[in-house]
Amino acid sequence: MLPLHIGIDDTDSITAGCTTYITARLLEKLNSWPYLDYPNLVRLNPNVPWKTRGNAALAIRICIDEDQIRWVMEDVIATVEDLSQIHCPRTDPGIVFLMGAIPQEIKVFARQTIQNIVRKKEALDLIRHFNCEAIGFNSGRGLIGALAAIGNTLENDHTFELIAYRNKDNIGKPRMVDTDSIFTMDTKMAGLTFNNVDYEKRRVLVLPRGPDPVLLGIRGESVTAVKAAYHLINVREEVERWVIFRTNQGTDAHLQNVEKIARIKPYQPIIVQGSIVVNPHYIPGKHLIFSIEDESGQIDCAAYEPTGKFRKIVEKLIQDDQIEVYGGVRPKSKRNPITINVEKIKILTLASKISYRNPVCSICGKHLKSMGWRKGFRCERCGFKSLDAEKIPHELSRNLQEGLYIPSSRANRHLTKPFSRYGKEKIAIAFNPTEEFWGLNSPQFQ
Ligand SMILES: [Zn+2]
Repeated sequence: MLPLHIGIDDTDSITAGCTTYITARLLEKLNSWPYLDYPNLVRLNPNVPWKTRGNAALAIRICIDEDQIRWVMEDVIATVEDLSQIHCPRTDPGIVFLMGAIPQEIKVFARQTIQNIVRKKEALDLIRHFNCEAIGFNSGRGLIGALAAIGNTLENDHTFELIAYRNKDNIGKPRMVDTDSIFTMDTKMAGLTFNNVDYEKRRVLVLPRGPDPVLLGIRGESVTAVKAAYHLINVREEVERWVIFRTNQGTDAHLQNVEKIARIKPYQPIIVQGSIVVNPHYIPGKHLIFSIEDESGQIDCAAYEPTGKFRKIVEKLIQDDQIEVYGGVRPKSKRNPITINVEKIKILTLASKISYRNPVCSICGKHLKSMGWRKGFRCERCGFKSLDAEKIPHELSRNLQEGLYIPSSRANRHLTKPFSRYGKEKIAIAFNPTEEFWGLNSPQFQ
């Protein structure tokens, strides 16, 4: 028996389809082989300009008899061909098969697809070099994500997502799920699941919008947690199947430290430190812009309108505050300079905010009046004059604390680590093949 890794990407169009659903169907087809892991759902660099809707790539890892590999590959290809939106513009599915252990070079490549921009040629070179079997439809751009899903083994921090899929007949109709039960579930499962709801706008995030086959998706820390959460939700329509994926969602896997502002490159998701040099100010559209600098240079940062109340924190920043900015880099355009699209900030040190008051009259105690620049002060009540009196500095309250600030969950990217996950970072994979991680129908209907 040999390990076989199957990577799939870019099967959905702008409006329809879902690579996770194809993966769910494949799990049923491949079920006679032992699984080596949960199916993996890997989110790639969210700042890539040609990304698909969610920029998700999928991998399935099984153990297989060598003489059966050809047959299994043909079956996988036929399924992807049948279920993907191949005829839609900008849908460029890719499938990659890798037998045996995953080479270090492919792991490095996989990290690049999450933190940087990679070209199709790099994927093709690795596919050839390591004798992978691969098939790309249309432009074949999906091969990048397919190889990346194989190489991203989620060995470090990871989370889980349970996705339930709708019956074909219901796709496009309103989702029959009791939203109150989702809020109740969120309260009961606090700390074990994340991004179920957005409390700032009291909005449910578990249910996607639009005509795709996903009924709901629950993100959490373990297989047990997402299953328990699912059972707490009141689902009032039939569920075709459900799958639990191991993912890099909510892990900050995309962010990399950049030592100096001058080294920031477009499209990178980064963490960088600097001090405020241009105070936050609003531009049309209620977007908040500020600039930070270090000894190497200066860069604009933007907290856009969808970040909501987060901007109420950011707008309190002043010159010389030391902060750490987390976000994706938007390239320079005709209208705007290169800009960090802020995902979070950490306030490292607050500058003191000083206001100056006139000194007090040493005779009668009233505040003196200035007689002009370097002309001294005069008391209006008793006529006392002083040439050497100076304004007295007075520190104002900042009404702001040092620490980490993250926008409300609706504004978070798939990869952004929410508050509730800090301190829960995992360091090893635990795969328990005896615990069911996919099934047909909803447990509620059995
Ligand atoms: Zn006086």
